[in-house]
Formats: sequence, C-alpha cells, structure tokens
Amino acid sequence: MIRTILLPAILVLSTILPLAGCKTNPATGRSQFQAMSRDQEIEIGESVKDELTDEYGGAFPDQSVQNYVREVGLRLVEHVEPQYKDLPWEFTLLDSEVINAFALPGGKVFLSRGLVVMMRDEAQMAGVIGHEIGHVTARHINDRIARQTGFAVGATVLGAVSRSDAARIGASVIVGAGGVYMLSYGRDEEIEADTLGMRYMARAGYDPRAQLEVMEILRDASGGSHPPEFLSTHPLPQTRIQRIERELRRDYAHTQDNPDYQRYPDRFRTRMLDRLPGN
Ligand SMILES: [Zn+2]
Repeated sequence: MIRTILLPAILVLSTILPLAGCKTNPATGRSQFQAMSRDQEIEIGESVKDELTDEYGGAFPDQSVQNYVREVGLRLVEHVEPQYKDLPWEFTLLDSEVINAFALPGGKVFLSRGLVVMMRDEAQMAGVIGHEIGHVTARHINDRIARQTGFAVGATVLGAVSRSDAARIGASVIVGAGGVYMLSYGRDEEIEADTLGMRYMARAGYDPRAQLEVMEILRDASGGSHPPEFLSTHPLPQTRIQRIERELRRDYAHTQDNPDYQRYPDRFRTRMLDRLPGN
C-alpha cells in the first residue's frame, strides 16, 4: 500500500524537480522559480519597449544626452554579476515630465527627464539607474509572472500554463489594461533593488550615499499636489530609507570621504541638466 502511494510520488517529484527549474539568483542569493527563460525575458522587454517609450513622450531627442545616460548605465553594468553582463542592455531618457523610471526584463532601463531634473549629480542619476538594474538582475518580473500564473511550479508541470503562456502573461503584466504601464513593486523588491543598486554603484566608483539622497529627494517631493509617479510604482516607506542608511553604515563606511567614490556634479550639469528644457 505504502509502495503504491510512494512510487507515483517519487516519479512525479523526479519529473517536477528538473522541470520546475528553481535556480539560485547570483545577484540576490535567493532561489527563484524560472517562470521565463532568459530569451523570453529579452523577448518581453523587446516587445514592450516601444509602447512604453511612446507612452512617455518618446526618447528625448538629443543623442548626446542619450549617449551620456548610456555611458553611466554601462559603467554600472560592468559590475553586475557575470551572468547578466551580456544582456542586451539599453538605457533611454524619456521625453516626459512625469517623474518615473522603469526596467523591463532582459535589461531595458528607462528614466524620465522629469526625474532626472530632480538629480544634482551623476552619482544620484547612477543611483536611479542602479536601482532599476537591480530590478532586472533580481528578476522581479519573473517572480511576478510566477505568481500571476498561479504558482507556476504546479501549473507549468501539469501543463496548465506553458512557458510561452508565461511569456505572454508577462507582457500583459507589464502593460496593463488601457496600455498604461502598471507594474508596481512590493516593499521587499524595492529593498532588494536598493541593495543591488548600491552594490553596483560602489563597485563602479560612485558614492553610494547618492542612493539615499535620491530617496530623500523623492520623499520630499511626495507631499506636493503632484506626488512623483515613481512612488506609486516603487513604493517608498520610511523603513526603506532606514534600511539604506543602515547598509551605508554597515557596508559602505569606507566609501565616505574617500576620493575613490565620486559624485561628478560638473559633468552632470554640462552633459545633462544644461541640455534639458527649462534648466
Ligand atoms: Zn523600484
């Protein structure tokens, strides 16, 4: 009797485990269900990026500014975990006064000029970009899709949700009804992206304290009549700021008052702010 129950269970488990494909994420150290393959993530990013760009006023039409954003992005990408270095990374400044930043799976990062004009130096912009890169390397959209597809561990194995379904659902998770870019992260995801952002910043020689300043700037702007849209997609509870402060004290004390960790306010002024409207 025991044997007849156990045998199918063992057979099922031995089928599920390799298929379910839980892998440890090299950026976060967390075990993650692989709702999407790397290629599917890249495909989703490619399929959504034009719509997102159009929705936020298109790309800012000054190529030198776009090149600058790209340089800063790629400087950070040099320091992501090796598995993510050769994603088809793209960094785009959106021609929109809305205050937000986005990351699509597979390495497409966007920031609005409404957000960038609030920054005071290159390190702060690197803080925003590093945070978005963190959402990509932590594969938060993969997790979201795993949840949305009905705890896909079971569903995929049972054939209820195939991997290509998961990819389709992925695109619909990102672009919600009416074409509005709806994705919003949870508190734990925000903390993870902050941690990774500071890691990449410090490795790239930026002062990671700039990450804290970005959050303070956004928090201070949240009391006005038009709170930054960024805060609805990237929630910022006070605990998140405290968490960044704690990490700065614990892991990055050596970066403070240290010329190896820079801010670059001057070139941010000349290569970015001076070229944006109204500055
Ligand atoms: Zn975020």
